[in-house]
Amino acid sequence: MSIIKNEYYNKLGIRRVINCASYLTMLGGSIMPKGVINAMEKASEWFVDMKELNMAAGEVIAEFTGAEAGLVTAGAASALMLQTAACIAGSNPKYIDQLPNTDGLKNEFIIHRSHRTNYDHNYRNAGAKLIEIGNTGGTNEWELESNINEKTAGIIYVYGPKQGGAIEIEKVIEIANKHSIPVIVDAAALLPPPENLRRFISMGADMVAYSGGKGLRGPQSTGILCGKKHLIDAAFLHSAPNNEGIGRVSKVSKEEIIGLVTALEIFIDTDHSLIMKKWENDCNIISDSIKSVDSLTVTFTKAPSNPEDINDEEATHPYLIISSKNHSDNEIEELLAEGNPSIRVRNGFDTNGVKIFTSNLQEGEAKIVTQKIIDALS
Ligand SMILES: *Cc1c(COP(=O)(O)O)cnc(C)c1O
Repeated sequence: MSIIKNEYYNKLGIRRVINCASYLTMLGGSIMPKGVINAMEKASEWFVDMKELNMAAGEVIAEFTGAEAGLVTAGAASALMLQTAACIAGSNPKYIDQLPNTDGLKNEFIIHRSHRTNYDHNYRNAGAKLIEIGNTGGTNEWELESNINEKTAGIIYVYGPKQGGAIEIEKVIEIANKHSIPVIVDAAALLPPPENLRRFISMGADMVAYSGGKGLRGPQSTGILCGKKHLIDAAFLHSAPNNEGIGRVSKVSKEEIIGLVTALEIFIDTDHSLIMKKWENDCNIISDSIKSVDSLTVTFTKAPSNPEDINDEEATHPYLIISSKNHSDNEIEELLAEGNPSIRVRNGFDTNGVKIFTSNLQEGEAKIVTQKIIDALS
C-alpha cells in the first residue's frame, strides 16, 4: 500500500491523514476490516425487503447485547434521537406524525449537567426538553427524584468525555424503575471492550446506543440501538424505511446494515487482548524513539484492564501525551498536520501536551509518525 497514492482521493486533491486522534467522525472514524467491505459489496448485489432485513439485523444485535431487541441506526447520533422519539411518542401513529411538536405529550428528559455535550441536539431533534440536575462536583439523589413529574418521558445517561459528579447508573436505574420512567444510555464510544455491549442492558437500562463506526469498525455512518422490545419497535416506526417519522432523515442502506452486522460478528470473534498489545506496542515504538529528543517530554497511559473501569472514550485505548519545551500544544498540532501525509493528534483537552492514540494507526504508520515528530519538533 502506497503511503500517499490513492487514485480516488488523489483525483480530488485529497491528502492522506494519519489518524492519531482516535475514532473522530471529523477524520472518518475508523477503517473497516476487509471482511466488512466484502460483506457490503456482496450485499449491494440484491434488492431485499428492508423491513425483513432490519428485523433480522435486530435479532443479531439482541443476541450480542443481551437486549430484547435491536436496531441498526444511522450513527449513535440517530440512535439518540430515536430513543427520545420512542419515549415521547411510542408507537402511536398520530404522535409519530406529530413529532418534533410535543404538545400534549410527555417531553421532559432529566440529564446530569455533567453529561451535557454537543450531542444533546440529537435529543432535542425529537422534541425533548432537557431538565438539568447536579453539577460536576456532585449530584444528590433527591435532585433526580424531585424532578420526576407527569411530564417526565425519560432519564438520559451519557458516557461522554470524562467528568465527575453523576449519580451511579445503578442508582439512577433503581430510582427510574420506582417511577416507571425509562433510562436511555449513550454509550457511543465505549467499544471496545466487548463487555460493554451487555453491561448497561444487564443493569436494567431501557435503551442503549452505540456507534457502529468507532471501535466497532463497522460503516462510519452506522450505530446500534438496543433495549426493551416495545421501545425498539417504536424506534423502528420513527425511522426509515418507514416514511412517517422524524428518523426518515437518517436512513441506513442494506449494505450498511450488512456491514454493521458483519462488523459486530468480527468484533465479538476478535481477541481484544492481542489488539491492545498492538496498540501498546505502537505507543512504545513512538515513545522509545522520541524520548531521546531533549526538548520533548512523553508519558504513556495504558487503558484500564478492568472493563468496568472503562467509562469514557479515552479509557478504551492506550495513549501518549507529548509536550515540548520549544512549542505550544497548538504549534505541535499544526506542525504535525502540515504536509502529506497529515498527522492529526488530539489537542485542547484537560491536560498539558497533545495526545497520540495508536488505535487507528495502520501498518507502518507508527514509524512515519515517529519520524515526523522528530523532524518537525526537534
Ligand atoms: C461519537 C459519539 C456520539 C455520536 O456517534 P455517531 O456514531 O458518530 O453518530 C454520541 N455520543 C457520544 C458520547 C459520542 O462519543
